[in-house]
Amino acid sequence: MNVSDSERVSTLLESEGFEITSDEGSADIVLLNTCSVREKAEHKLYTRVGQIKPGGKGERLVGVMGCVAQLEGETLFEKDRGIDFVVGTRAVGRVHEAIRLAGSGKGNVIDLKGREDDYDWTVADKSRHSPFVAFVPIIEGCNKFCTYCIVPFSRGREKSLPASEIVRQVLDLRRTGVKEVHLIGQNVNSYRPGTDTGLEDFRGATPFSRLLRAVAATGIERIKFTTSFPRDFHPDIVDAIEENDNLCNWVHLPVQSGSDRLLREMRRGHTIDSYKKKIDRIRSSSREISLTTDIIVGFPGETEEDFRGTKELVRHCRYDAAYIFKYSPRPGTPAAALEDDVTDQTKTRRFLELEEIQKENVRRSLSNSVGKVYDVLAEKASERDDDHLSGHTTCHKVVNFAGNGAVPGDICRVKITDAKSNTLFGERV
Ligand code: SAH
Ligand code: SF4
Repeated sequence: MNVSDSERVSTLLESEGFEITSDEGSADIVLLNTCSVREKAEHKLYTRVGQIKPGGKGERLVGVMGCVAQLEGETLFEKDRGIDFVVGTRAVGRVHEAIRLAGSGKGNVIDLKGREDDYDWTVADKSRHSPFVAFVPIIEGCNKFCTYCIVPFSRGREKSLPASEIVRQVLDLRRTGVKEVHLIGQNVNSYRPGTDTGLEDFRGATPFSRLLRAVAATGIERIKFTTSFPRDFHPDIVDAIEENDNLCNWVHLPVQSGSDRLLREMRRGHTIDSYKKKIDRIRSSSREISLTTDIIVGFPGETEEDFRGTKELVRHCRYDAAYIFKYSPRPGTPAAALEDDVTDQTKTRRFLELEEIQKENVRRSLSNSVGKVYDVLAEKASERDDDHLSGHTTCHKVVNFAGNGAVPGDICRVKITDAKSNTLFGERV
């Protein structure tokens, strides 16, 4: 979501006459986009401002956008003298105005107000992180209030974009040569536009599965979506995938814990049992769908027994990838009022134990792919060898392969010949 916001801000600033540079040394303005989902991410901000403006001094303007900006607001100016302007998560359409005010010597400029009704979600081709892959936000914010999480506070309530606008964007992207779109949101499957404009012709048990079918009908080559919220994951999503070749074979379904007691404490709205039923549908699909997850270790009160549950679940689900996080209290969330009683040492041990189990899952998942042929979107040439390309399968696995004349942007049939750590190797057939 942050990469996507940065892309839109780049587009906006270029259209307002600014010039974007990747050379930090030559920049007159440095804009830092920030994440506050974990404590570590937040600490990085202060380190970076210190590097850009040692001692808070220097000519250039430093601005902060993103979740830390939204949450900390005014206090950022006290915490770091190097910061000149602060732009909240829903004020990204007015960054240029904040810059102009800060540049005119107004000092401590801040905009934490809401999004304008006519906010333009378009990203210019040159501002995208890839010429072939594009992020398309479909829902922002979060209403779930999991007890550990800051996102509902930093990103506000869920707001779905109109389906007709999403479909229009995907059609435009397809015309400009984009091969893969990622429909993004904190919880994409909670998608609920006020009126289903643009979805009337599509069947589906939920607005999200209708949207998937509508986006599939645009004919864009590949569609991925992330993140799915377990409680709202309807089996019809798998039906939609099975019906449409361009809906990719990948579901990211963060489970967080393998203990029902902790899932209740986290207020996740799902149990181990209900979660397992959903992944059974995914795993029994006629398509080879990869399943990935997020897990938190060391939530307040997590016992060895709770943790054993998580280990069992990770073994059971055979995740193709898992992002494991050590719990960190986020000020203002309900969990932050609980004692953070799992020591850092124990959090680290549990993290490493889980990582070992997950490494085995990854090894198994990748070695199962050896000998098979997959469609791979060639995203870039290998740095070492021009004829070697690198890209993703539709199940979102990374493949390095001998291109035999293919170029970035091609979707290639690739036979997998080898698997190492997190990567598959192969050749175009
Ligand atoms: N909406 C998604 C998650 C978005 S946040 C979902 O509910 O599945 C991304 C991940 O950060 C979460 O899945 C969680 O694993 C992790 N996370 C969030 N808050 C955290 C905290 N306080 N400490 C550690 N990890 C956290
Ligand atoms: Fe955070 Fe829960 Fe919302 Fe995910 S669903 S963003 S974990 S509050």
